[in-house]
Amino acid sequence: TSRSCKRKMGNGKLIPLFNMPVVSFFQCPFGRRLPCDIYWHGVSFHDNEIFSGQVNKFPGMTEMVRKITLSRAVRTMQDLFPEEYNFYPRSWILPEEFPLFVAEVRMMKESDPAWKPAFIVKPDGGCQGDGIYLIKDPSDIRLAGNLQSRPAVVQEYICKPLLIDKLKFDIRLYVLLKSLEPLEIYIAKDGLSRFCTEPYQEPTLKNLHQVFMHLTNYSLNIHSGNFIHSDSVNTGSKRTFSSILYRLSSRGVDIKKVWSDIISLVIKTIVALTPELKVYYQSDIPTGKPGPTCFQILGFDILLMKNLKPMLLEVNANPSMRIEHEQELSPGVFENVPSPVDEEVKVAVIRDTLRLMDPYKKKKKDNLKSPEASLPSPCLKQVFPKYAKQFNYLRLVERVAALFIRFLGVKGTMRLGPTGFRTFVRNCKLSNSNFSMATVDILYIDITRRWNSVGMDHKESGMCLQAFVEAFFCLAQKRCKSLPLHEQVATLIDFCEYQLATLDEKRLVCSRGIMERRPALITYQPDGLHLAPAHHAPLLNRMAAANKLAGYRSHRL
Ligand code: ADP
Repeated sequence: TSRSCKRKMGNGKLIPLFNMPVVSFFQCPFGRRLPCDIYWHGVSFHDNEIFSGQVNKFPGMTEMVRKITLSRAVRTMQDLFPEEYNFYPRSWILPEEFPLFVAEVRMMKESDPAWKPAFIVKPDGGCQGDGIYLIKDPSDIRLAGNLQSRPAVVQEYICKPLLIDKLKFDIRLYVLLKSLEPLEIYIAKDGLSRFCTEPYQEPTLKNLHQVFMHLTNYSLNIHSGNFIHSDSVNTGSKRTFSSILYRLSSRGVDIKKVWSDIISLVIKTIVALTPELKVYYQSDIPTGKPGPTCFQILGFDILLMKNLKPMLLEVNANPSMRIEHEQELSPGVFENVPSPVDEEVKVAVIRDTLRLMDPYKKKKKDNLKSPEASLPSPCLKQVFPKYAKQFNYLRLVERVAALFIRFLGVKGTMRLGPTGFRTFVRNCKLSNSNFSMATVDILYIDITRRWNSVGMDHKESGMCLQAFVEAFFCLAQKRCKSLPLHEQVATLIDFCEYQLATLDEKRLVCSRGIMERRPALITYQPDGLHLAPAHHAPLLNRMAAANKLAGYRSHRL
């Protein structure tokens, strides 16, 4: 044990990483023996042996940020709020949406003959630019022979990025998802800018293959003869984002606006990921089961367009925290040398994450001689719930996911069976003469079958969250035809929440009656799920739901 944070060097020696006198760190390459306050997993959440403390990974995060899953989650939000989610390039999922891709591109070209697009094809689950290529026309995908092999996302290529020194660059920002429930998000005040190594030109058939011109990945550009390692944070092929902002501000750019657009992009992206993350969480750590709480550092890759609009490229669940780079001393002889730019940004992110997650934080606050006082000022800035008021209206799918989780039934599952779906319809009183239970079954079968045929996991049966969301949108559209989709969905959610709160209240009254008569009978299982302890929450929920319904009706009048 040590009294300061340490990092392990290649030679196995532990050396102090930074001055953090409040934490003891152990490395457990061969498995853990002792319970800890904070577990720092290398790759993803998966350790069934942790029953308390905090883990640096959320269950399901790696799956959620894969290119296809992220594109699907953002698309659901784009269906509801197209304007708010226009920070993600138009994307199609291959191979299933290839015909749609061809048809939509043809339509757009017909309506705007001056449009000369390019597209970028990215294999699902790829990283570091692996397998990525650019095309000018949908038919080129077939020529590349990729359609049948690996699932991928094809995306509109952002042809006009902001250039600095004539070079394209992207931004890696570190974001701490401190908690899912309640949602708490922090953003690091500084990030990294990673530069291409060939001057940028808009894509043409001639330059499409020039990766050093179009792809900003460090892992690719490091192999270019033009890559510049610099000891300064504001020159070279990797710089701090703050040095870029400084430069932009000296050109008269409103950098506060750039930051607030970036914060908005980060919050909206996490809002899109949250519903499914909650389903994963519930499945791995069901309510009532002892388990750890989770937090996670995410790497957001963002491209600034020429007009300074930030666009999301991807989210990394396991961003590299290396603060060294390899240098070739002589042919074939490499040495790890410190990278001041990485050190400047990443050390602060880890130090602040530990500071925020410190389980004894509260106690130390009371102690005036807290060792924290000697640490540099925090680099992680809270953005949620700080700006919750501006973004809470977007959190509709999360409420649909809460309904889904309620009816899942068996603990540990992530798929809704036909009975669960029927119970949902029945308990929410959605069936009527126009919408019989037989129609409900057909809706379930249709949507579930389609999702399972395109899904990545063909083995599991039942309705996944995205299929349930689609069915829910379908029901919402049927009930309130004339409204925009997000209002249709919000109305149906309010209605369902009201019905369920009423039902809970009835059950509570009923169980109290039974308990008074038979004190031995304590629990029962609403909707096949665990029962919250008897208190007045259902009544309060119902009142809240009723208020929302009333508010919504008066708003419509
Ligand atoms: P990977 O996970 O393999 O790094 P990314 O989605 O980050 O995949 O893409 C790799 C690089 O390609 C990015 O760093 C960026 O420079 C470029 N890129 C990706 N998507 C786009 C896009 N839609 N428009 C322009 N450039 C893009």
